Amino acid sequence: MNSPLHIDASLLAGEKPRIRSLERVIPAKPVSDGAGVRLRRSLGQSSAYRLDPFLMLDEFASDDPDDYIAGFPPHPHRGFETVTYLLAGHFLHEDHLGHKGHLRSGGAQWMTAGRGIIHSEMPQQESGRVHGFQFWINLPASEKMKPAAYRDIAPEDIPGLAIAGGEIRVVAGTFEAPGGPLAGPVQGLSTAPLFFDVRLVAGGRFEQPVPSGHTAFLYAYSGALIVGEGDRAQPLPGQQAGVLSAGDRVVVTAGDEGAGFLFLAARPLGEPVVQYGPFVMNTREEIDQAIADYQSGTLTAA
Ligand code: FE
Repeated sequence: MNSPLHIDASLLAGEKPRIRSLERVIPAKPVSDGAGVRLRRSLGQSSAYRLDPFLMLDEFASDDPDDYIAGFPPHPHRGFETVTYLLAGHFLHEDHLGHKGHLRSGGAQWMTAGRGIIHSEMPQQESGRVHGFQFWINLPASEKMKPAAYRDIAPEDIPGLAIAGGEIRVVAGTFEAPGGPLAGPVQGLSTAPLFFDVRLVAGGRFEQPVPSGHTAFLYAYSGALIVGEGDRAQPLPGQQAGVLSAGDRVVVTAGDEGAGFLFLAARPLGEPVVQYGPFVMNTREEIDQAIADYQSGTLTAA
């Protein structure tokens, strides 16, 4: 979108870019998942706490092995994608297709469950710090039954860039930097996700165009943020998902302690969501089918 031929329609119409403001705050609450991993869940606490196409966001952060050592033994998924991003720690993913991937500090894993996957996500450390995230992003009806796919993204494959107020890592989509676009390794998905990890110094500013049709939210894992600018600027404390209003630009400023945050945006699907645990489909009948397939051992069958 950085081609000289690309002219923003709002500029042609003489409109000012609409800066997205903070519309809704979803505080993360402590939950336990897997075999007893302690998490903070913001999106996905219930069906009322989703942001199409995002179904869930978990943060796990602990120095206490009791909080993470049990991991996530083999379990199924169908109908969506799970994305794991690790700031610190070491996990091993294994699935029924024989994929085996080590997830280390600074790396990501993008797993498309599609029709079905059975996998485990287990810590490879008995002590030390673990800090990371998993979010779930829905698939359109037309892709829910496609073959499962899995991608390991090594830390060195996630491009980083110093920006005026800090630094940014681009996992998915493209960051429009003043010096030109910086494309992350994940591109071409039908939900066109943007997934950035941004660190700002105290008072540092992050500004970015966001397609006006995308939903978007922020989650500060360290420090706190001020979202928007001028009269409409509002504080967003840490460990809370901040859902943004409609608009075509995001402007964020770090508080006095600086901040580290995730920025996530994607094209909503506008389709019915029926979820039963690790299965996310469009109808109750499809959920019943997923359960029957899992029980009969054909969840993952080609
Ligand atoms: Fe999983």
